[in-house]
Amino acid sequence: MTTQIIRAACPHDCPDTCAMLVTVRDGRAIEIKGDPTHPNTAGVLCTKVSRYLERTYHPDRILHPMRRIGRKGEGRFERISWDEALSLIAGRLQKIAARDARAILPYSYAGTMGMVQGESMAMRFFNRIGASRLDRTICASAGSVGYKYTIGAKIGTDTEQFENAKLILIWGGNPIASNLHFWMKVQEAKRRGAIVVAIDPYRSLTAEKCHHHIAVLPGTDASLALGIMHVLVRDDLLDHDYIADFTLGFEALRERVSEWTPQRVAATCGISVQEVELLARLYGETARRNEPVAIRVNYGVQRTHGGGMAVRNITCLPALVGAWRHPAGGVLLSSGDSFPKQVNQLERPDLAPLDPQRPPRTINMSTIGDDLLRETAPAFGPKVDAVIVYNANPVAVAPESAKVARGFARDDLFTVVLEHFRTDTVDYADIVLPATTQLEHTDVHATYGHLYIVANNPAIAPLGEALPNSEIFRRLAARMGFDETCFADTDDDLAAQAFDPQDPKASHFDWAHLKSSGWIKLQMPAAPFAQGGFPTPSGKCEFYCERMVAAGLDPLPAYIPPYESPASAPELASMYPLAMISPPQRNFLNTTFVNVQSLRDTEGEPHLEIHPLDAAGRGITDGDIVRVFNQRGEMRVRARLNDGARQGLVVALSIWWKKLAPDGRNANELTSQRLTDMGRAPTFYDVLVQVEKAAPSP
Ligand code: SF4
Repeated sequence: MTTQIIRAACPHDCPDTCAMLVTVRDGRAIEIKGDPTHPNTAGVLCTKVSRYLERTYHPDRILHPMRRIGRKGEGRFERISWDEALSLIAGRLQKIAARDARAILPYSYAGTMGMVQGESMAMRFFNRIGASRLDRTICASAGSVGYKYTIGAKIGTDTEQFENAKLILIWGGNPIASNLHFWMKVQEAKRRGAIVVAIDPYRSLTAEKCHHHIAVLPGTDASLALGIMHVLVRDDLLDHDYIADFTLGFEALRERVSEWTPQRVAATCGISVQEVELLARLYGETARRNEPVAIRVNYGVQRTHGGGMAVRNITCLPALVGAWRHPAGGVLLSSGDSFPKQVNQLERPDLAPLDPQRPPRTINMSTIGDDLLRETAPAFGPKVDAVIVYNANPVAVAPESAKVARGFARDDLFTVVLEHFRTDTVDYADIVLPATTQLEHTDVHATYGHLYIVANNPAIAPLGEALPNSEIFRRLAARMGFDETCFADTDDDLAAQAFDPQDPKASHFDWAHLKSSGWIKLQMPAAPFAQGGFPTPSGKCEFYCERMVAAGLDPLPAYIPPYESPASAPELASMYPLAMISPPQRNFLNTTFVNVQSLRDTEGEPHLEIHPLDAAGRGITDGDIVRVFNQRGEMRVRARLNDGARQGLVVALSIWWKKLAPDGRNANELTSQRLTDMGRAPTFYDVLVQVEKAAPSP
């Protein structure tokens, strides 16, 4: 009997990127736990990933290639060999590429965040074909663009420093559910006397545990940030030296925020004037005492029409009060740009053929519903003939789900899906390929929530005939006759290329060593902008941003109302008066883990949280099945009456697999494909609906 402990990394779309230890006995993983020596993980995994062995050895794993034998959407398949699967795929792609390779579309996101099993060999393959490019916007691009207009890059406060802050604003996130290790730092800060404020339309598990909860209406966060700036200027709670030395455009900002009185902000956000004043004065006065004030802004903020601007506005706050002077001050959206990733080396865009007759075409993953239904047209390019889906589940996740499903149901569309399980998307595949889980392959991870590079070693042999994504695309490349040497790179070769060792932050990166040590921290200053040095064109924090003028945007912080709200769309609201948001369910991660029985048992069934007064007006009582509907679609779920959802708001925690919901639908039946102000991102939380008691089933 042999027992080994293998160093691994959590691959999921979560900012915590935990370092894990997997115990393997006689080739079988028998325990998984957080690495107690990793400063961020501190020996703790969330409940979801604590069940990773249940997921890995799940009886429903796809363990061999399959070909569709039923109708699209039916999910009926027969087993085929790898040889047959590769031949079928290569043959079909070669035919399409001979006409126009841009009719082939990769579709992938963060099913694994690993740099090897993510976009490395896969993108080499698609670049070499000359396939359409995918704009990967579905989660974070609005906020990322807004943040970068102000700060220059996604670099912010080190998560580990938050425990030293004296005031923490948790803005648009629910870390207990989706950023657990950050929450552990917040708890430590609370023990040390910090005040914690949640800003969120919904009284989430996190908001319940904060000192203050400010329940703004969805999509109005930008206005609240303008109001805070108004009070900071009005009451002279400013760090004049920091502003003079390290910012650009303060005078224009001063004039802009003068319009945003607490009264106007309160009316816009649906909160009280006292709440605006309280928040602004807490922020300004704590900083005035030279105590660190830190903001954790999260992606919930940026899922509405003006989401990019909202993040930009929030990101202006620390420079006004000089919060960046402290290691524990500032703001964190993502640490992603701290990592010197060698994306071009991994993905090799230089492999793409240059054809002036066929200029590169990019398709936005957030409008896949519309784009799969488009015909060939000069403005669009060729109709999409083939989609290769990996690390993603668009039929359940992409907005306006009915259209997405209709697109994937096209008989003339060739769909290949690399997966672990028979997801909603797999049901529409022509060919299904079995992919390995994180315990079965090699990977290396950057993260967007801390500053560590984390290694993942394979703990067990692949189950069944499963293969790593990298190997699947390697074999497909060979089958297509691609003989460039980069297609022979092993997973270790790819991992070794992931970071630039010439960059001082990662000069100690050495893959061979990292595999055995497990993780290393980037070498960065504790307070990245204490002395300015913002990675913007001006080198300053840009309150006024010339790049926004070039992009046709307001160069100053502004408020862009939601597409769908009673204030901005009164006619629509007369039919669909309730705002709906669909934040993450605690025990699911996007759609990953929904099919793990023990986690689904904990979550119960899809439900809608509705305020008792909104329910009473509709004759709805707790536990009723309700019909939630708007101009795009409908779903039927069980109503839960509570005041966690403020009046006028309903909350549909997500994302359920459609086929595991009693009515075969989820919240994305109701979401729209309209895009944010910047970053071409979806507006998942910019939705009006009506709710009624559902007629009993016949
Ligand atoms: S999902 Fe997040 S918190 Fe859970 S184990 Fe993975 S990285 Fe850690």
